[in-house]
Amino acid sequence: MRSWVEVSLGTIRANYRAVKSVVGQAVEIMPVVKADAYRHGAVEVSRALEAEGAPWLAVSNVEEGVALRQAGIRTRILVMADFLPADREALSEFSLTPVIHSLSDVPQALGAYHLKIDSGMGRLGTRAPAHEVVESVAAGPGQLEGLMTHFASAANYTSPQTAQQIERFEGVLAALRRAGLAPRYVHSSATIPVAYGRREAWGNLVRPGHAIYGYVSPSRPALPALLAVKPALTWKAAVLAVKEIEEGALIGYGGIHRAEKAMRIAVLAAGYADGIPHRLSNKGSAIAKGQIVPMIGAVSMDLTTIDVTSAPELRPGDAVTLLGQEGSVRIDAQQIARIAGTISYSVLCGIHARVKRVFVD
Ligand SMILES: *Cc1c(COP(=O)(O)O)cnc(C)c1O
Repeated sequence: MRSWVEVSLGTIRANYRAVKSVVGQAVEIMPVVKADAYRHGAVEVSRALEAEGAPWLAVSNVEEGVALRQAGIRTRILVMADFLPADREALSEFSLTPVIHSLSDVPQALGAYHLKIDSGMGRLGTRAPAHEVVESVAAGPGQLEGLMTHFASAANYTSPQTAQQIERFEGVLAALRRAGLAPRYVHSSATIPVAYGRREAWGNLVRPGHAIYGYVSPSRPALPALLAVKPALTWKAAVLAVKEIEEGALIGYGGIHRAEKAMRIAVLAAGYADGIPHRLSNKGSAIAKGQIVPMIGAVSMDLTTIDVTSAPELRPGDAVTLLGQEGSVRIDAQQIARIAGTISYSVLCGIHARVKRVFVD
């Protein structure tokens, strides 16, 4: 194989249990498996989480939900990021629970639905005042099973935005309760409010994605996390060629790297078409024979070059680690993201579908 990822389903399950131990028995967990489980493989990850006892899973769209049902997943499934009119039939056919984002859709919601409040993120969800939400829900033919919102700045404890969002959300919830329309589920928290213990945002259901895959983004200011999780995904690439180059040689497109001294380089069978960010050119690292080594020159479409002067035992056909741990050294998606000027979510989701996936325990 040129490049592959190893996904540890045992680590996914352990991460789920870690979330459970933080939120306790009174709060249910709805792991988020959208975008092919952040590229970890939605079907296998969902099976592992179902076996671990997850009562719910969350996906972005109907197509993702249908794929899980067709693979035999029987948990409740919430479709979070809206649906198109043409998807309505599949929702009921495959027992998927929709999120309604606009009061104008409430009259068409026949079964159980969750209603999303735009409490200040300015993305999906209704911004209608509480009394309009109450009127609309009371008049609708369906059943308001869940009330939810999503935070824009959860990791930023210097910003008042999360507290303001909670206040606005609680206002709508209180009005529904007064009208006798209390939903069974109240949920606002993705990974961050769970990890840093913002209990007032947990409701009775939390929606962690990143944490399930082993990541918690740093908070501002840096706070200790209650949650300890481990990355479940390791990304490797095969060495295609190893060679010696002389001092002064230029490496790759644009000649953006000049060898300051004679060096040994290895050419890896993975490039930006596999998801290695092009912005790692001349800046990224890999792990070769247990040592961190630098990427040199431009990341190409299918190839990346590393300086392996410090790993003379490396041979063509060996594997190097692009993301993961070898012995005591490790490169994780957050480190890659910092160097590439992006976010860890985008690094994980950017791993291309052509990169083969292998499941390990
Ligand atoms: C993606 C998503 C989540 C999960 O977010 P993480 O930060 O990965 O835990 C939760 N809720 C909604 C609405 C989302 O879109």
